[in-house]
Amino acid sequence: MKTDIFDNLKSYGKVLKDEPMSNYTSFKTGGCADYLVYPASMDKCAELIEYLNKSECGYTVLGGCTNLVVGDMGIRGVVIIISDLTEGFNEIKVVDENTIYAGAGVKKSEFINFTAENCFDGMHFMVGIPGCIGGGIIMNAGTYMGTFSSVLKKVYFINNRGQSKSKEIDSTMGQYRHLDLEAECAVVTGADFSLPKSDNKDLVIQKINDIIEDRKQKHPWDYPSAGSVFKNPENEASWKLVNDCGLKGYSIGGAQVSEKHTNFIINKGEANSAEIRALVSYIQSQVKIKYGIELHTEIRMIGEFH
Ligand SMILES: Cc1cc2nc3c(=O)[nH]c(=O)nc-3n(C[C@H](O)[C@H](O)[C@H](O)COP(=O)(O)OP(=O)(O)OC[C@H]3O[C@@H](n4cnc5c(N)ncnc54)[C@H](O)[C@@H]3O)c2cc1C
Repeated sequence: MKTDIFDNLKSYGKVLKDEPMSNYTSFKTGGCADYLVYPASMDKCAELIEYLNKSECGYTVLGGCTNLVVGDMGIRGVVIIISDLTEGFNEIKVVDENTIYAGAGVKKSEFINFTAENCFDGMHFMVGIPGCIGGGIIMNAGTYMGTFSSVLKKVYFINNRGQSKSKEIDSTMGQYRHLDLEAECAVVTGADFSLPKSDNKDLVIQKINDIIEDRKQKHPWDYPSAGSVFKNPENEASWKLVNDCGLKGYSIGGAQVSEKHTNFIINKGEANSAEIRALVSYIQSQVKIKYGIELHTEIRMIGEFH
């Protein structure tokens, strides 16, 4: 990497050098990013992508950092944070009677409140999922009630050459925690959501509150985590496989299989990412030995580990 990159990056937004990713990840672990940039605007973000590509500098685009294990040695190159701190990424508006536009940096909780306030329905699958809209789109996040791909109409993005593009989304593009868009998309900038109108706002709000209550009962909210660690294999529930291997409460260092929900790994306070990764591998090996089933992770491991 060229030594003058810090000064160059400053023309695209706020830049932090050697920034600890543990300040950003929901797991509260992870080493330093060489450079972390909050783009000043959507246009500046596009120019930044073009610049990084031309200068062959590696970059990683992140949102709320709630689905990640970042290696303890950190992330080389540039981390670009897409959040509601950047104008344009924080926009949310009613487009027409069945469509809402939201910028990629809008928090899912804010999106849900906005849709409910405006009497839209159909977004309940998103309730309780942390992070931003952009991360939800890339992950095709969801629950048994639905996923992003079931309500996405059009996604707006910046491609690897820094050009603004859009793509109509149909339901066949949504895979299990993956949207068929990732290869051509460098940065999701926003999306149109197709949602039905409700004539009963109180009912929409009541449903949201019920789901929040239900998730509080089932999930270990009191410890840092990144949500469900493993995808469910066909016709199986990962939490049950982990549980039936006797791994409830099993720990490596400060990383522990939650006693409340055995598909969650929690940080008991002093965990590092190496311990989380070691626990993930251990669980995978135990489930493979006992059931012959490969568990694949839903959480993403990025950056450098020891
Ligand atoms: C307590 C808890 C509960 C959870 N429950 C659920 C659940 O019920 N269902 C579920 O699906 N998930 C769940 N998750 C996981 C996580 O919250 C979701 O996957 C969420 O959608 C990730 O959004 P994010 O903004 O944090 O993305 P990040 O973690 O920042 O990034 C996730 C991926 O998206 C990419 N990305 C992020 N933003 C952009 C962008 N603007 N442009 C291009 N790429 C981008 C990143 O490179 C990364 O590969 C849970 C997590 C926690 C901590």
